[in-house]
Amino acid sequence: MAVIAEDVVAAGNGANNKKPGGQTEYVVRAKDLVKEFQMGQETTRALNGVSLDIKRGEYLSIMGPSGSGKSTFFNMIGGLDKPNNGSVFINDVDMAQLDAQELAFLRCHTIGYIFQSFNLIPVMTALENVQLPTIFAGKPSEDGTARAMELLEIVGLGHRLHHKPSELSGGQQQRVAIARSLANNPSIVLADEPTGNLDLKTGTEIIALLRKLNKEQGVTIISATHDHKMVDVSDRVVWIRDGRVDKIELREDIDLHIGSMGNEEDEA
Ligand code: ADP
Ligand code: MG
Repeated sequence: MAVIAEDVVAAGNGANNKKPGGQTEYVVRAKDLVKEFQMGQETTRALNGVSLDIKRGEYLSIMGPSGSGKSTFFNMIGGLDKPNNGSVFINDVDMAQLDAQELAFLRCHTIGYIFQSFNLIPVMTALENVQLPTIFAGKPSEDGTARAMELLEIVGLGHRLHHKPSELSGGQQQRVAIARSLANNPSIVLADEPTGNLDLKTGTEIIALLRKLNKEQGVTIISATHDHKMVDVSDRVVWIRDGRVDKIELREDIDLHIGSMGNEEDEA
């Protein structure tokens, strides 16, 4: 079973979506996903047949109003929750076929996670927070420290290595979380409302940083968001409504009507 997990990782890293050396063009394939939540007598169908193929190296935004199913979809492709129906393939491996250990291995090595509320460990410094995933991955401590320092430098926090989250601004905390998401050199970074707790200027800086990392590190970025600022940097935007894919647009096409998009983000 470790063989499957290592294949997942081996196939995963790299920016090219052209299929070199057996790499698949699609880093994520979601097929017919259905997810229901039962609350007492009431059933909510959060995802109602979502299919989506995500290219290696792509910056993809999943947009939609609050409650449309973005986080639920995020949790399915991140292996954080399971669909009632349908399947998710990561680097051609069907997640449903993985046992708990393999799934943990995949989550640790292949996917990095960024959340709206940063989710840093309060008692740890920035350096320790970023290093933590390398410890879970069983990497030598010196390597993990070096990697964490390098990443904090890349996100512009080389001068804040020993600060705890409470000693950092919201934008700086999200930079630490972004650095942490890259610690094990994942092929995919999943970001759920990464700008949701940030002001306009800081949010714009975080979006620019994610785009830069997408370009420079070749990592596929999948962001669930209702922040229209994200459209500017996305290669493709998937609009979700009531648990279904409403439309998929390439950035070039969005440019044509971007002027007509108001501040709908403030509704949600
Ligand atoms: P979004 O991220 O787009 O705001 P979500 O994916 O969080 O939307 O939610 C989609 C729908 O599923 C909503 O109606 C929400 O109330 C419901 N939902 C999400 N998670 C749960 C849960 N754990 N239990 C019950 N209902 C849920
Ligand atoms: Mg959400």
